[in-house]
Amino acid sequence: MANGILVFGEVREGTFKGIGNELVSAAKMLSAAGGGPVSVAIVGDGVDGAVAHAQTLDVAQVYVAKSPALAAYATQAYATALQQILEKSGAGIVLFGATATGKDLSARLAARCGASLFTDCTELSLVDGALSAKRPVYSGKVYAEVISSAQLQMASVRPNIFLPAASGGSAEVVEVAVSIDAGSARGRVRELVSAGGGAKDLIEAEIIVAGGRSLKSGENFAILQKLADVIGASVGASRAAVDAGYVPHSMQVGQTGKVVNPKLYIACGISGAIQHLVGMRTSKVIVAINKDENAPIFAKADYGIVGDLFEVVPALTAEFEKLLASG
Ligand SMILES: Cc1cc2nc3c(=O)[nH]c(=O)nc-3n(C[C@H](O)[C@H](O)[C@H](O)COP(=O)(O)OP(=O)(O)OC[C@H]3O[C@@H](n4cnc5c(N)ncnc54)[C@H](O)[C@@H]3O)c2cc1C
Repeated sequence: MANGILVFGEVREGTFKGIGNELVSAAKMLSAAGGGPVSVAIVGDGVDGAVAHAQTLDVAQVYVAKSPALAAYATQAYATALQQILEKSGAGIVLFGATATGKDLSARLAARCGASLFTDCTELSLVDGALSAKRPVYSGKVYAEVISSAQLQMASVRPNIFLPAASGGSAEVVEVAVSIDAGSARGRVRELVSAGGGAKDLIEAEIIVAGGRSLKSGENFAILQKLADVIGASVGASRAAVDAGYVPHSMQVGQTGKVVNPKLYIACGISGAIQHLVGMRTSKVIVAINKDENAPIFAKADYGIVGDLFEVVPALTAEFEKLLASG
């Protein structure tokens, strides 16, 4: 069914986001299985740097829809632009990152185009030309294998599943003149306010240092932030820490927070309740620091440190500092 794979390349402040490199890698795997050529779609304003990056990913085409009306992400305007790119490309499969933007946009576009949509996929393949995916259901307790019978097939893929695509070549750039009637949109983005800090959003982070109720205050999260700064991590939290007002909800990991998939997850003073585990249990390596040796988190952890986080975390930070300074 597939006649080419279109990757939606997310752009943040002019930069091509890392998830796009991973999606191109997934798309190439589908292409090698008979899915057709791989192309990248870029939508926005001031996206020349992102386009130049996408050109180096050894893909057939980079489709670009530029307009001042697309400067800030807005569901309807982006769906309109991407739909026009999709029609031009003729692709049968569209891949998105399972990020806030990717999930929002894919749902809107799939509904508009009458496409099938598999969300939050951890594996993709082609079966007799049809897109097949593995995705968690029931809060990750089981994985479902699904296959699409639709003519147009879409999927959002979790970050940190596929390795970033190797660079090579210089893809053709195809500018698509899109008409966006911003005035008729039912919702308009007036302002984007950064949550602050240069760290990656938890959903895309490769390393996460997370803290629980045991941190006792928002100020004490500085201990975790210091470790995170040294090892290039983002800081997350349990719901108990969020409910106590120590940190904002954007930092919450779990069933009613974010589902993360980093290479390394360091849980500091987090008990390991099932609602927290569903948000981080696919992390490649889990390290738990807890003063209770019977804490449930240790059953999921690859490495456990039984101790007081207020002693262990600064000691770890100092060791990492030394190690990284010595190269
Ligand atoms: C519908 C629903 C949805 C939920 N969604 C989420 C969610 O998305 N995310 C989430 O996290 N939770 C969620 N929860 C809450 C969840 O059930 C737990 O209550 C919560 O995860 C507990 O957070 P915690 O581990 O920080 O706190 P606690 O359960 O209080 O555990 C604190 C841990 O820290 C250890 N500790 C204490 N002091 C120290 C110290 N100095 N050094 C080292 N260790 C120490 C303790 O031994 C303990 O294990 C949800 C609950 C419900 C009912």
